[in-house]
Amino acid sequence: MQFAEVAVSVPVRGNQSFHYRVPEALAEEIIRFSRVEVPFSGRLVQGFVLAFNNPPDLKKIKEIKRVVEQQPFLDDQLLVLAQWMEQRYLCGLGDALQSIAGSAIGKATGTKEQDVIIATPPDNAIEGLARAPKQRKVLEVALSRPEHTKTELAKLAGVNLQVVNSLIKKGYLSVKATEPRVELTPSLPVLTKEQEHALAKIRDAMEKQKPQAILLHGVTGSGKTEVYLRSIADTMSKGRQSIILIPEISLTPQMVARFKDRFGNLVAVLHSSMSNGERYAEKKRIRDGLAQVILGARSAIFAPTERLGLIIIDEEHEPSYKQDENPKYHAREVALKRAAQNDAVVILGSATPALESYCRAREGGPYQLVTLAHRVDNRRLPRVQIVDLREELAKGNLNIFSSPLISALSKRIEQGEKSILFLNRRGFATTVLCRRCGQVMKCPRCDISLTLHNDQRLKCHYCGYGISSPLTCPECNSKYIRGFGVGTQRVEEEVKKLFPGCKVFRMDADTTSRKGSHKEILEQFINGDGQILIGTQMIAKGLDIPEVTLVGVVSADVSLNIPDFRAAERTFQLLTQVAGRAGRGEASGDVIVQTYDPEHFSILTARDHDFISFYHREMSVRKALCYPPFSHLIRILFSGISEADVMAAAEWWQESLKGIVEETKITGVEVLGPAPAGIPKIKERFRWQLILKGAVSTDLRKVAGTLLQRAGIRFKKVTVSIDVDPLSI
Ligand code: ADP
Ligand code: ZN
Ligand code: ZN
Repeated sequence: MQFAEVAVSVPVRGNQSFHYRVPEALAEEIIRFSRVEVPFSGRLVQGFVLAFNNPPDLKKIKEIKRVVEQQPFLDDQLLVLAQWMEQRYLCGLGDALQSIAGSAIGKATGTKEQDVIIATPPDNAIEGLARAPKQRKVLEVALSRPEHTKTELAKLAGVNLQVVNSLIKKGYLSVKATEPRVELTPSLPVLTKEQEHALAKIRDAMEKQKPQAILLHGVTGSGKTEVYLRSIADTMSKGRQSIILIPEISLTPQMVARFKDRFGNLVAVLHSSMSNGERYAEKKRIRDGLAQVILGARSAIFAPTERLGLIIIDEEHEPSYKQDENPKYHAREVALKRAAQNDAVVILGSATPALESYCRAREGGPYQLVTLAHRVDNRRLPRVQIVDLREELAKGNLNIFSSPLISALSKRIEQGEKSILFLNRRGFATTVLCRRCGQVMKCPRCDISLTLHNDQRLKCHYCGYGISSPLTCPECNSKYIRGFGVGTQRVEEEVKKLFPGCKVFRMDADTTSRKGSHKEILEQFINGDGQILIGTQMIAKGLDIPEVTLVGVVSADVSLNIPDFRAAERTFQLLTQVAGRAGRGEASGDVIVQTYDPEHFSILTARDHDFISFYHREMSVRKALCYPPFSHLIRILFSGISEADVMAAAEWWQESLKGIVEETKITGVEVLGPAPAGIPKIKERFRWQLILKGAVSTDLRKVAGTLLQRAGIRFKKVTVSIDVDPLSI
């Protein structure tokens, strides 16, 4: 009888691997790392086979139900990575493996005619085939003359195809995909001095054959992508693969095109809207070494590479690199770990590096700093003008656009140039309020105000709840109920009023829910003589449209007023990034930033393109308040239907955490809270949180991890979710 140790994905803490019996019927199919379905406390859950060994106790052993995926592209190195994630993010091993393997893609698709066969027999296979002379012959041929196609192999051995197939099924032969190489001879631009210098430093790092990280701090339009492309070509010439992460793949079709133009079918793209078959094919090409360049969003960091040499994280400061579900990993940290496993180089690229990253790249830090201070061809960075909205109001301008912005827009329209209007808030109006009684229309399921949309419906952006907008106040019946706070739909309406006949496009979550719609809108804006593109942060990233000479920021205050210690940093990043969309062609660009807070340092330093001043100023604020990077945080979120249960759990945790701090004599760990979370209720579930704060990350994890083990599933009706180094609190 055979037993398998399976790492399951269930909310038990600590050891998540259990033994199961391998049923006779599945014995052939199940291999190490297979994704299987097993019974666990009354239901079926997924898990991964870690090993075949005997259980410590034969009683109560259950059976594996079925094989979900025979080979989910895991290996020993990725298992070590999962074990590291378990420690780093206080998640379960099964959960970490789920993240690495991604969603199940099931069975392999058929082999192609040009695919070659390689011999992968177990020990003594030839002897074992004594009674199957045809199979034996095929195996002997495959061993002596590798890499023939299936048909060729059958011919050489003088047998029919079925014999080859049966050996493939046994695992004695494997199929390796090949494909015709497309020869590309792209014309490469002559590198600028700064690019040359950056590349030289990256090459030095590669020569050392040791894990290293380089922070490539380059202003927008300084040619970072060209540096990436050259580093990848170098890596490839050494026979090693590169992974390139970009924040959101559907938002940056131009980026994908640039990589494909340069490397053709050596590029594999991984993204969430692929079919299972497509994803399987790409992963197989990566594993077989056919794809040398892997391009994808966050989860592409887990690509099953064989010989990883380089990892690039573009826009490394982007919050989308952190997963907001369990396990709450950060792709940058995973990248550094994978680089350490493979003696690979990591390049972190950004015009606005995260504070954490920049501080690690300064004197004595673990990263090397490489700077691109100028735009390619010495094009000027855009001129940024700040408009004080209080003054506009004083002058009697009640429009959402200030007079400088209106005249700048008219000028662009006259000259046939393109403009971008940025506002990081979708919908028509952010809140609907009664001016008589002060009633705000809120979602009944979430503790958040409803957003008015231009179809006269009120929508909840957290749970999707919607009602039609009331004409009178539901509280006091007054008719003085109306929308406040501007969203992108309102911006579109105002533009159409001001500039009738103007070709306007809007890009936000409401216009891009359909697959491929991003690309369509962009193409229409770029090629279809579009004049103004309105959008949320979706348009802040990566767009390289030479005809855009004006960027208007409708309100810089949206991100500034978020109650989070990273609000200033986020504002600086967004402003710099969106400003960087202007003046990328021959003509120089202008940026107009509207705000009620024109003296704020993050706005002033963004105007001056002065990251370094921003960095020092913000670091001193963080230091004074002892926030990251001067401390580490762990956020523990409790949620449940009953607020009393949630509060009770949070209080028990608070007491117990303090107990553990005392017991272990760990100093410098604070337990803050419990307090209601930023949004106190989402989808009928109340949310409370605790924050652990301290100088040493391992201390915090030790305290929280100890309690996780002890707590088990003490509060059945409350979900406890742990976020190590949260991006927002
Ligand atoms: P970044 O990623 O830093 O914003 P890009 O790599 O997109 O900058 O480069 C900006 C523009 O300059 C792109 O259109 C790119 O094709 C072009 N470019 C980059 N390097 C060079 C070069 N050495 N010579 C000429 N053009 C270049
Ligand atoms: Zn009212
Ligand atoms: Zn809601």
